[in-house]
Amino acid sequence: MIQSVSAVDGKAQVAIIGAGPLGLEIAISLKRSGISYLHFDKGQVAQAIYNFPIGTHFYSYPECISLASIPIQTANQQKCSREEYLAYVRSIVSCFDLSISTYEEVIAVRKESDIFFIKTRSNQGTKEYQAEFLIIATGSTSKSKKLNVPGEGLDHVHEKLKDPHYYFRKKVAIIGGKNSAVEDALRCYQAKAEVTLITRKEHFKENEVKYWLLPELLGRIKRKEMTCYYASHLIEIRPNQVVFQNQGVKQEIEADFVIKAIGFEANLSLLEKIGVSLKGKQRIPFFSPSTMETNIPQVYVLGTVTGGNQKVYRAFIENTHIHVERILNDLSAKLQKTIIPYYTKLRRSRAPEQ
Ligand SMILES: Cc1cc2nc3c(=O)[nH]c(=O)nc-3n(C[C@H](O)[C@H](O)[C@H](O)COP(=O)(O)OP(=O)(O)OC[C@H]3O[C@@H](n4cnc5c(N)ncnc54)[C@H](O)[C@@H]3O)c2cc1C
Repeated sequence: MIQSVSAVDGKAQVAIIGAGPLGLEIAISLKRSGISYLHFDKGQVAQAIYNFPIGTHFYSYPECISLASIPIQTANQQKCSREEYLAYVRSIVSCFDLSISTYEEVIAVRKESDIFFIKTRSNQGTKEYQAEFLIIATGSTSKSKKLNVPGEGLDHVHEKLKDPHYYFRKKVAIIGGKNSAVEDALRCYQAKAEVTLITRKEHFKENEVKYWLLPELLGRIKRKEMTCYYASHLIEIRPNQVVFQNQGVKQEIEADFVIKAIGFEANLSLLEKIGVSLKGKQRIPFFSPSTMETNIPQVYVLGTVTGGNQKVYRAFIENTHIHVERILNDLSAKLQKTIIPYYTKLRRSRAPEQ
């Protein structure tokens, strides 16, 4: 058993992989309970939020995405923007003086006599660490989904919305049929771009689009302020055109830029390497709902990674805070030490807890 209370020698009781909101939330409790832990992120803290388009707003109320129930104040008392949340996260990390090895990716893990040997890679080269328990909080938005059509890799095809100013007075084709596509279309429209939406859907679904955006979108389509091709299947992207099949008819429209707004995929390769079972088409990790421990003893999953490749988003920040308590309860029993979740008060999620 590793007894170290400091992680300076590269050995700790716990290793957390991923410093998104949930990885940070559990780190706060471990630190305050005097459990030694190592914490890695292949990017910066809250890298997934950093990757949101500039100026994106959360759909959750601020209190539902706050960490350890520490309030988030927004400048205009509205929902939190990407920028406000990143500033909040920096304050949380500074306030609790959390130690995180950022830009250090965990690339392999092996287990010997109940100890995990964790191999990482950073610009300093590769290193190896040891821990007794692993908490995997690697999220579910690691990479953009693929369109799998010729021309997808052209320079004018953007993986996500840039600052909308970029598209001023340009023809922009937006591919997708859920929230991101709708939000991108409205923002580009406001930035005076000529917007065309191309979606496989027959219509936009209320539960897939922020409720306050849908009426505006449908109104603008109706008034022909933007164009929408429903039930459409992409064939090819050319340097200045998008080709697709719309209700059996081949269409070619002009586009200076194409924005892919078709969602993300999780990178589950680390879980696979560790031997965690991944179930079904969505490759949902196997875990006990009461402890979050996977089929590999001493390995827990935390946060949105628990949803695997989420087709419809089920697990998000606001309804996975509960994982922190479940893991800490199980760790308390296994380490025979009381670990108290650090919450100023219990938060409520509007969505069912996962
Ligand atoms: C546009 C958009 C809007 C959203 N709005 C909301 C909202 O309003 N409310 C809500 O609850 N959720 C929302 N979400 C979802 C939210 O972003 C995620 O739920 C949240 O980031 C998940 O937190 P997490 O800690 O589980 O994982 P993440 O934030 O994804 O963190 C995972 C971390 O793991 C790191 N990592 C991955 N692999 C490795 C590795 N091998 N080694 C080291 N580090 C690794 C990544 O760099 C990343 O920092 C939104 C998502 C998007 C895309």
